[in-house]
Amino acid sequence: MILNNLHILYHTRCITSISFPIESWQRVLKKNKQSKLNFKLIEMEERNLYFMQLAMKEAKKAFEKDEVPIGCVIVHKGKVVAKAHNLVEKRKNATEHAELICIEKASKKLNDFRLNECFLYTTLEPCLMCTGAILLSRIKKIIYAAKDIRHGALVSVFHVFENKHPIHTPQFEQGPLEKESADLLKTFFKMKRAQHGKKN
Ligand SMILES: [Zn+2]
Repeated sequence: MILNNLHILYHTRCITSISFPIESWQRVLKKNKQSKLNFKLIEMEERNLYFMQLAMKEAKKAFEKDEVPIGCVIVHKGKVVAKAHNLVEKRKNATEHAELICIEKASKKLNDFRLNECFLYTTLEPCLMCTGAILLSRIKKIIYAAKDIRHGALVSVFHVFENKHPIHTPQFEQGPLEKESADLLKTFFKMKRAQHGKKN
């Protein structure tokens, strides 16, 4: 019952707003007297949705700048320590991916290259380059929205973390907003193809 409610509320929120009224959920939880396990599960779902919404905001910023719309946030002890979006076109550099920029910002902010306690939220499954940086920076967990069938290095094209690394293996999972992220990317590439068609 409570999970059904969460599902409905989650989809309603995705469509209507990017805001995050956590109080309403706390009221529902108290009312339903859920077990600690369910409470933790719902808390986790709520957190993932909240931070992925922030990553989507970054992706939309990229879209507005005519960049491939991918956004990323890094969270340390429940707080956002870095936000970034793709800047490949602006900086004319193929390595300026949201995740890499975000890792650099988080390392500066925390004054440490080791990001062991950090969670990375990204709107698209990371590529091979970014999963390499995620491994080296020892990110604890990756939560991605849409899969990337062209470059995804977690589950789509490569399976970088399938074998355990002797020092550190980041955890990963697909989180919320898959459709929203995929739709934004589809719209972007459709627009690009239309612009390209007009030029020819
Ligand atoms: Zn990448």
